[in-house]
Amino acid sequence: MQNPYLPYPVRIDEIITETEDRNLKTFKFVFLNDGDEEKFSYQAGQFAELSIAGKGEIPIGIASSPTEKGFVMFTVNKVGLVSTFLHNMKMGDIMGIRGPLGNYYPWDALEGKNVVIIGGGFAFTTLRSSIVYMLDPANRSKFGDIHVIYGARSPGMLLYRNELAEWEARDDINVHITVDATDDPDWKYNVGFVPTITEQKAPPADENTYAIICGPPVMIKFTQPVLDKQGYKHDHIIMSLENRMKCGIGMCGHCNVGKEFVCKDGPVFTLAQLSHIPKEY
Ligand SMILES: Cc1cc2nc3c(=O)[nH]c(=O)nc-3n(C[C@H](O)[C@H](O)[C@H](O)COP(=O)(O)OP(=O)(O)OC[C@H]3O[C@@H](n4cnc5c(N)ncnc54)[C@H](O)[C@@H]3O)c2cc1C
Repeated sequence: MQNPYLPYPVRIDEIITETEDRNLKTFKFVFLNDGDEEKFSYQAGQFAELSIAGKGEIPIGIASSPTEKGFVMFTVNKVGLVSTFLHNMKMGDIMGIRGPLGNYYPWDALEGKNVVIIGGGFAFTTLRSSIVYMLDPANRSKFGDIHVIYGARSPGMLLYRNELAEWEARDDINVHITVDATDDPDWKYNVGFVPTITEQKAPPADENTYAIICGPPVMIKFTQPVLDKQGYKHDHIIMSLENRMKCGIGMCGHCNVGKEFVCKDGPVFTLAQLSHIPKEY
């Protein structure tokens, strides 16, 4: 069995600056050793520890989809010590990835169901993974209608803009992009906060419809009542938490809320599950 504390060595293969403030970059990594990509077998919704020798490790959601082969991808916000160091690294540099860690979106339960993805800001990473996974030709027929509601502060703060445009043009997914505000006269999408657009565009709840929601706490706080009003049951609302954590494997106790370890039992929980644990998330 692989030592869970040992990272796989990877090379930075591509770096994409996502946002106009240059604080969000996507890193594509390739595994250095034969066989490691297969061992790093993951599902959409999981995360990994990005590991830089002498600097530390940070938990980051996996933004690539398991259907994308030859690389693994993460989108990282520059906030502190390790993420800033990573932002200054170059293509070709070597570092480590430890994982995959945590649970994932309940793909078996979601089969045959309509899926409403609601995302805000840079928390869209594992949602991008999920959308690419569901749209894969081998998987699309397994799901019903797919709706995406995704918002950022301004057009220049949206992630994955080329892909958003591609999804927009498809007829097997309903994409509703929104920004808080813009003075761009050519902006052709929505203007308004995610909860407002959710109220306008999310399909009404039924037994066959699940919502996956990821975003800043304020977005979640105001979107949840909208979903309640539309009749979504709390076991049909799926969320991913980003508590501070260290080991990622349920050993150190940095991330536990009540009896749950967010790194091991989560980070994905239904709202019904979260109602049983203290509101420390
Ligand atoms: C499961 C999971 C998935 C995540 N996915 C992503 C992702 O896809 N992209 C991404 O950019 N970030 C993600 N994060 C958050 C990311 O782990 C932190 O931003 C990162 O650890 C900061 O490390 P640092 O060394 O750069 O900052 P530090 O120097 O440790 O801290 C800088 C600042 O960030 C704050 N901070 C540190 N960790 C967190 C945290 N977990 N939540 C809120 N504030 C924090 C600190 O309090 C401080 O104010 C995720 C976190 C978790 C637990």
